[in-house]
Amino acid sequence: MPFLDLKFNDPRVKKALLQVPRDQFVPVEYQTLAYENIPLPIGYGQTISQPYIVGLMTELLTLKPTDKVLEIGTGSGYQTAILAELAAHVYSIETIEPLIKSAQEVLARLGYKNISLRQADGYYGWEEESPFDAIIITAAAEEVPSPLKSQLADGGRLVAPLGSPGGTQILWRFTKHKDTFIRENNGFVRFVPFTRR
Ligand code: SAH
Repeated sequence: MPFLDLKFNDPRVKKALLQVPRDQFVPVEYQTLAYENIPLPIGYGQTISQPYIVGLMTELLTLKPTDKVLEIGTGSGYQTAILAELAAHVYSIETIEPLIKSAQEVLARLGYKNISLRQADGYYGWEEESPFDAIIITAAAEEVPSPLKSQLADGGRLVAPLGSPGGTQILWRFTKHKDTFIRENNGFVRFVPFTRR
């Protein structure tokens, strides 16, 4: 059984990882590696994240079934599907058009009805649908774009790898309390760069 050896505190995260067929989100030539705990290339210089990191970031968002989630960096759509298993609705933004297209196809084929995708620069978030109970950034920026901070609900959680693109980053969780943000360090990670287009 894929990913059974991965450990999470929240059993729902593990359940979602076992539920979503990761092989459907990777290019055919990598399908035999889809259930290894490793990142894989998805074309256009981008990668589908390591399943453990997908699970960890999901867990840090502490999602409720009624939550509205914003994801920046749809990529393959795999993390999007995991979020859609645990929240009410997922809004996901990606800059690279062909990635949005293939994510849209596979997510529709798998029957997800609670996902909305948009091709845009994620820096600006998705104002019309804000506030969000949770926001996840799956690319490495130096700091959290300020529109995303304002689109987070009071009590909301934001998870993002921050640091130098091309190097290692720290995985932060921010929790919003009125206008202040409490942040927690969740260790070193390595993500593709957040790119303004
Ligand atoms: N969650 C994805 C990870 C994809 S890698 C998955 O599971 O497959 C990160 C993605 O962020 C890339 O596809 C990249 O194109 C996208 N990205 C980078 N900068 C962005 C920006 N400013 N706005 C939206 N998406 C961006």
